[in-house]
Amino acid sequence: MSQIIALTNQKGGVGKTTSAVNLAASLAQLGRCVLLVDLDPQGHASMGSGIDKHELDVSVLDVLLGDAKASDVIAQNLPVGFDVLPGNGDLTAAEVELLDSEARKSRLSSALNEVSANYDVVLIDCPPSLNMLTVNALTAANGVLIPLQCEFYALEGLSALLDTVEQIKENINPALSVSGILRTMYDKRTSLTREVDKQLRDFFGDALLKTTIPRNIKVAEAPSHGLPVTHYARFSRGSQAYRVLAKELIRRLTL
Ligand code: ADP
Ligand code: MG
Repeated sequence: MSQIIALTNQKGGVGKTTSAVNLAASLAQLGRCVLLVDLDPQGHASMGSGIDKHELDVSVLDVLLGDAKASDVIAQNLPVGFDVLPGNGDLTAAEVELLDSEARKSRLSSALNEVSANYDVVLIDCPPSLNMLTVNALTAANGVLIPLQCEFYALEGLSALLDTVEQIKENINPALSVSGILRTMYDKRTSLTREVDKQLRDFFGDALLKTTIPRNIKVAEAPSHGLPVTHYARFSRGSQAYRVLAKELIRRLTL
């Protein structure tokens, strides 16, 4: 059975998209069949996977609205080694268009039913808010991966996110659980990092992933080439970290 993992944190700039793209590429390099779903109107996961968000005839919005099948929108045989269900600015309409629709929270879940058996892992890159798109991701997923930066405000807003996860688990999706907390742009030398580390360990215990992703310039440069860092700079520290993360998740979630 395929695992569907939503990368979520309503805070922007914590490394959701970067982690979604690079984890997808690393899992693919380790032989897994991966689908990346871009559910953020910014379309950065699509762009970072080499897909021009401005050139899409159909996107994940059409899938959410029931106007297209996922299998007709998914981009396959890409140089990055994984498939992409792309999104772009059109997704900003989803919030309004889905408002009145029946079963609006489970549109993505229903759409993925058709294709998920083709994949070992489906990763969903979420927008930086707890809106209807994120709710759709959490309804479709069985795991939640929460990227965060070890800064003073790292834990702020997390309780709102965990409450949302809990509500969706209780009301619509009993299979949902937190797969892991991922520390990104990590610098272990600072005392602030050590302090936040301790808070995270106390709060999340075993859910705190062992692998941390260091701040690495190659990771930041890769998207401008439409490539994951694993392809752009294979031997960089960032690339190696995402490979280690992929292995940790393969073990942990039996992917
Ligand atoms: P989010 O999707 O949570 O908004 P992004 O993945 O877009 O966050 O990352 C925010 C910014 O930080 C981007 O400019 C990205 O290139 C940069 N970034 C993310 N991870 C790293 C890293 N490990 N090293 C250096 N820069 C990073
Ligand atoms: Mg993002």
